[in-house]
Amino acid sequence: MAASAAPMDIEASKIMEAKDVTRIERIGAHSHIRGLGLDDSLEAHKVSHGMVGQQKARRAAGVVVQMILKGEIAGRAVLLAGAPGTGKTAIAMGMSQALGPETPFTMLSGSEIFSLEMSRTEALTQAFRRSIGVRIKEETVLIEGEVVEILIDRPSAGTGAKVGKLTLKTTDMETLYDLGAKMIEALTKEKVQAGDVISIDKATGKVTKLGRSFSRSRDYDAMGTTTRFVPTPEGELQSRKEVVHTVSLHDIDVINSRSQGFLALFAGDTGEIKPEVRDQIDLKVAEWREEGKAEIVPGVLFIDEVHMLDIECFSFLNRALENEMAPIVILATNRGITTIRGTDYTSPHGIPIDLLDRLLIISTSPYSEAEIKKILEIRATEEDVDMSDTALDLLTRIGLETSLRYAIHMITAAHLVAVKRRATEVDVDDIKKVYQLFFDVNRSTSFLNEYESQFMFHQAPAPGATEG
Ligand code: ATP
Repeated sequence: MAASAAPMDIEASKIMEAKDVTRIERIGAHSHIRGLGLDDSLEAHKVSHGMVGQQKARRAAGVVVQMILKGEIAGRAVLLAGAPGTGKTAIAMGMSQALGPETPFTMLSGSEIFSLEMSRTEALTQAFRRSIGVRIKEETVLIEGEVVEILIDRPSAGTGAKVGKLTLKTTDMETLYDLGAKMIEALTKEKVQAGDVISIDKATGKVTKLGRSFSRSRDYDAMGTTTRFVPTPEGELQSRKEVVHTVSLHDIDVINSRSQGFLALFAGDTGEIKPEVRDQIDLKVAEWREEGKAEIVPGVLFIDEVHMLDIECFSFLNRALENEMAPIVILATNRGITTIRGTDYTSPHGIPIDLLDRLLIISTSPYSEAEIKKILEIRATEEDVDMSDTALDLLTRIGLETSLRYAIHMITAAHLVAVKRRATEVDVDDIKKVYQLFFDVNRSTSFLNEYESQFMFHQAPAPGATEG
């Protein structure tokens, strides 16, 4: 017995190992953001849901969220405009959280679409369709019946009883057969015994105990025989119920694209999808909607660094926003008046005027010293780093003089230095040390200028040279 159990144990331990690796959590740059931090009247609390300051922008974002929830924003888009590190991405994340976990949220950086192995418009189309959810309703049938007998494997030491082979007597064997493993698990979990009256959900395999049958008294044979599931006399179609799944339009495209197949969904490499496939899917979804089987859930498409898009992409966006199934598009940029990529024209944020005209613009402003300090404090907590007050003050000053991002990056680095000297708390000297180790942009620039001769392709104008 013990020998035959050994290979199972090895498999199990491998699985455990794999799980352990995936359990290491990554702390993302915005993992401290849990929402927009607004109250019921959409007033922004100074500090809430991991969000600090930027109250006007957060309130505006809250109004947009309300409009989205009421379905009143089709054909428009939002632009978050402001200096680097003023929380544009953080606000977009907060909006997605406020919309709820069911809302599809896709994030894309303007420059990203130039590096994909597909045309820019295809990449944008995929991003759009990823951000459109289809809530599909399916009717399922519950089967009710009495469990007559159950076969239980001889319980092996310490592992408890397991339901083994299962035979269910019903006319709908095919569905029940598909449910096989799931149902055995459910029967075990629910501790179903002979004589129980149960219902089985055909879609999910969920087993519900409805009571005991008193019509039959049977000995419960813990070691033997076969389970038989006898449908109640009224028949097996006892009740119907609705199951709802939400998938993205893009997922449906990929599954139905013969050249890709659904496995491509896992690989993430879906390649280009033929327009005919999309047309067919759109028709099918329209049909489902008419029959009341499906609903569209407009999600959010967030495009950061939108000034990196070119004129072709902007025309695409203009057209795509007209589509009645369009998701809510949130754009972000930190550029002022600049050239529209692919043209010789300049415009605010490098975005063509006709697109700008459609946008609700939310601007973000630089943080005060107190706000920077609070954000750094929240980040330190998020990263599990204890920091002395004086160290936090110094880091805040660094944040003010360099950038918030640079100061945030220093938290982990300073923590490593503190751990090295076996301290539990980051102190001023740890901050000073990493400040010397890692350059911020200004110091890096002056370093480059000082040692220009040692670098290739140095293009800065020579000191004293005039422009033009
Ligand atoms: P860029 O223009 O460079 O893309 P951005 O405006 O998108 O910058 P973020 O990336 O949102 O800036 O902010 C930089 C860091 O500061 C992130 O880790 C972000 O989560 C955090 N942060 C910014 N603003 C806030 C805020 N108001 N509250 C809490 N954290 C914030």
